Amino acid sequence: MHDPNCVFCKIIAGAIPCAKVFESENVLAFLDIEPIEKGHVLVIPKRHWPCIMDVPVAAAEDIECAEEVMYLVRVVAKALCRDFATGVNVLQANGPCAGQTVPHLHFHVVPRIGCDPVQPVWRSGHGQYASDAERAGYATRIAAAVATIIKEEDLIG
Ligand code: 5GP
Ligand code: ZN
Repeated sequence: MHDPNCVFCKIIAGAIPCAKVFESENVLAFLDIEPIEKGHVLVIPKRHWPCIMDVPVAAAEDIECAEEVMYLVRVVAKALCRDFATGVNVLQANGPCAGQTVPHLHFHVVPRIGCDPVQPVWRSGHGQYASDAERAGYATRIAAAVATIIKEEDLIG
């Protein structure tokens, strides 16, 4: 449940201080120490799941925790917009190749204001398909994997 070497587990345990925004039995929201913008919030589960693929769905309390994380992302986004932002980016990295630096699941909720100078973190169009057939092949492969996992986990569908 907790990893003694994990910086976010240390924050949850109170061993490292943070600027807290919300806390419940399952979740914690706090300000990022290197904000993209002032008011950049991190939302985390109080369970040491390294990334989104590691979220277990067999036990009701894990599903409840994951649902609470998503709910809190929504509430923080609403709160930022009610306060000063005109929009938000919700960013989430899984694995070092995707830019994840802290291996404890977290959602960045970044307030955006009109013409702020923050650059987009992704580049649309980088992965253009060579043909309609190649696009259809990707859709078919991914759809098959999604269907298999949904069947294995038997939660929706
Ligand atoms: P990632 O790159 O894994 O998506 O995001 C990790 C985030 O955690 C970074 O934005 C980084 O600034 C933040 N972070 C790392 N260590 C600490 C810390 O000790 N306290 C806080 N508040 N944020 C941290
Ligand atoms: Zn952790």
